[in-house]
Amino acid sequence: MTEDDSLINKIREIWPGFAVADAAAWDTDPLVSATIPTHQRPRSIMPSARSVVVIWVPVSPTIMHTAPSIYYREHYRTLNTLLDVTSQRIATMLDAEGHDAAYVPRDGYHGIEGLRKDPSSFFSHRHAAYLAGLGTFGINNVLLTEKHGPRVRFASVITSADIPAGRPLKKGLCTECMKCVRECPANALSGDTYPGGLDKSLCVERSGELAKKGISPCGRCIAVCPVGKKVKPPSDDFIEAVRRYEI
Ligand code: SF4
Ligand code: SF4
Repeated sequence: MTEDDSLINKIREIWPGFAVADAAAWDTDPLVSATIPTHQRPRSIMPSARSVVVIWVPVSPTIMHTAPSIYYREHYRTLNTLLDVTSQRIATMLDAEGHDAAYVPRDGYHGIEGLRKDPSSFFSHRHAAYLAGLGTFGINNVLLTEKHGPRVRFASVITSADIPAGRPLKKGLCTECMKCVRECPANALSGDTYPGGLDKSLCVERSGELAKKGISPCGRCIAVCPVGKKVKPPSDDFIEAVRRYEI
């Protein structure tokens, strides 16, 4: 077994759903180098970085249909915690194997107020997932994956370990059906292809309104996207019962 295989197996023992991006790709990939500022790239954060391990977890399709709701808000938080704990465990293992390793906190911003000041997070897990070959960007500004469409969340571990990396998918997954554009209650999506289609400030203001009711994030552009495996939606009664609760 090579050293690569051994590391890959050790990551898989912790979490089976992962892919790897080459840390150098942030500087060479045309889309990512044009959209991610230099200070938010792995080699600026950790000069010894050679790889970024990207883990993923699917969002419950049943709960997704209820968004925005308290159920979705709590599910979103739970998934973020799961991702933080899991990526921390991977970083600890890589550390023990003699590599530099740091997991990037799942949501690197300071709530709605932080987003108003700067709507970009300090590290984009979706771009890491894109470079690892997990999906392509949709008109909804979210990374779409083959299996779960945009209903999946990612987290990243930056490491000096040199792990064989994936490459961006060649074919885009977005069908340009415009369902997300029509669904957006804030008119934040223009229908332009990524990276030009989202007015972040309108989306943040919508989140702010929902947060006052205790039901942020919004997620409607994610819920309606037809990409990914087809799942029977829950009954209208369930959705109505869940949405009855606001703060
Ligand atoms: S999260 Fe909501 S407000 Fe933001 S773009 Fe999607 S549908 Fe629009
Ligand atoms: S809803 Fe349609 S246009 Fe929007 S991201 Fe999904 S496939 Fe693309």
